[in-house]
Amino acid sequence: MKTLGILCRLIALAVFAAAPLDAGQTAGRTREVPATLDLRSHAEASINFLTRQPDPAQGMLPYFWTFFDDDPAELRHNHWDYCENPGRFLYGLVAARQVTGSLEGIKEERDFERLIYAAMTGGDGLCWRPAYSPFAPGTGKAEMNLWDNRSDFMGLLSLYMVYREPRVREKLEGMIDGLEKWAIRRDGYMYFEREDIYPDHAVDPDHQPRVGQHSSGWITPLIKYYQVTGSERARRMAVGLSNFVADYHGTSLKPGAVLGISNVHGALFALAGMIRTEAETGNAKQLEWAERLVRYSAEKLASSFGWVREMESREWMKPEDSNSCETCAVVDMIQCALLLAQAGYPEYWDLVECYVRNYFTGAQVLDTGWLKSAGQRQDNVASSYSSVPERVRGCFVGWGAPNDLVDEKARVKGAIQNCCGPHGAWGLFLVWHRIAAAGDGAVRVNLSLNKETPWCRVSSHRPYSGRVEVLMHRTMPLFVRVPGENWVDRKKVRCSVDGKAVSVSWDGDYVSFPVIREGQAATVEYPLLEKTRTEVLDGVAYKVEWKGQTVLSIDPPGKAAPLFERECYRARQAPLKVEADPVFRGEIDRALHEIDW
Ligand SMILES: [Zn+2]
Repeated sequence: MKTLGILCRLIALAVFAAAPLDAGQTAGRTREVPATLDLRSHAEASINFLTRQPDPAQGMLPYFWTFFDDDPAELRHNHWDYCENPGRFLYGLVAARQVTGSLEGIKEERDFERLIYAAMTGGDGLCWRPAYSPFAPGTGKAEMNLWDNRSDFMGLLSLYMVYREPRVREKLEGMIDGLEKWAIRRDGYMYFEREDIYPDHAVDPDHQPRVGQHSSGWITPLIKYYQVTGSERARRMAVGLSNFVADYHGTSLKPGAVLGISNVHGALFALAGMIRTEAETGNAKQLEWAERLVRYSAEKLASSFGWVREMESREWMKPEDSNSCETCAVVDMIQCALLLAQAGYPEYWDLVECYVRNYFTGAQVLDTGWLKSAGQRQDNVASSYSSVPERVRGCFVGWGAPNDLVDEKARVKGAIQNCCGPHGAWGLFLVWHRIAAAGDGAVRVNLSLNKETPWCRVSSHRPYSGRVEVLMHRTMPLFVRVPGENWVDRKKVRCSVDGKAVSVSWDGDYVSFPVIREGQAATVEYPLLEKTRTEVLDGVAYKVEWKGQTVLSIDPPGKAAPLFERECYRARQAPLKVEADPVFRGEIDRALHEIDW
């Protein structure tokens, strides 16, 4: 059997080697891998969006809006483009380039960096929106928006993680100086009064504290800055903000609210920051509190396949509007789940797989055929109509229905909000970064997703079959996570090494292999459970057909740009593809230098 397998492989390689090369293709060492979900191709699409969507005539200023109901589709600026989006595009691009390892986007990263520096006009180290704008209603006053600045800080911090340039560190320190200026401190807490600060603002130390994303959005960047640089003042600020959110959450709630911050993205991003901080400081009480809110969000505001409501309450919505999904909220649910899985709640790995395999990667706009481009209009200072479908390929949906990229009853119709494109790219990296990890002399494969790591190569045949192969690059013990009983039949798990059956031994949710030698391949196989489950989302009952953790179909189906049309996944054998095989050890070891978010 083994000889036959090798023979088939040799034949396949020979067939490939004999095939004529396409333009731009080079002969080299190749390998045959299952043609299944590969986050690299999603990150490549993100790079397309992040580098081609912005406005080159205005220094690569991103466009917040994509409007697709008209012909041609339109990109349009708004006030978020001055400070919020350059930061988002920078952290999204750095993250996507980590996944692909390509040079594409390296120039545009510097464009976004320049935009951020150019906005530091207020003398406090922070970024200020201009007093007058050709496309946003002018107030005649510059504005420093704290949520905007969170993005800029994250963008610069991502750049700093890659290059460690003192100039970038100086700007980051300058931004923290600015935060000190506007912060209120009281009894171990820290918070900010309001999101928008104007030049004549004076801090009122008796201000009645209220939790909001302008304060809580800063926990993640500050605790990460501490972890990267050792800055004690950043750590103190993160802890102060975290204490503030935990203790003032209850008194800030509006009637009927549980999360407190109505925008689910804002609320979950805050919780992710708290989980990061509590994991760092060992504050078990606050960690448990944050986990309860994440669980509430997963159970009450989201579907099991990763559609997450934009708003907890119906703020900003008319009675006839439906609740729709913002990809930023999907990413932050994934982020919280990844962090919780690493902080003592390993069951959250299943949520990550269910979201990533379904709504999250499904909500990336890869086929832009449904966007109109036949009409002609001239670009102006506010809008661009040129090649919009090609430029937005790789964005993530802004207002999505459970079964469709387009929600016709969304509170904003015919539109995509382009905060989601960069945050989606960052989300791809968060998952990619944690597929497999080495520690205590062993390697753990947490997610059944394809990845080349310094320690092993993970090749997943899911959802065609429940087969995960791990080719070892180092001699070490191996642990491979098996999904929960809801998704696979754990009683029928089989393990083998180099095709020879070995006994199945469990370590929690992982099957464990004693030391496996470099060059050996371990295989884990299990039956994927096939079930149809009904979920009621925003008053509509959806029949969702599952194979393991992958959705095969949804009923009722979508109309405009339907999701989950996945007939091909009914096949029992994964198709194979041939790709370049890293020749140099250094290329594989790139993962050792991955940044850490
Ligand atoms: Zn968004």
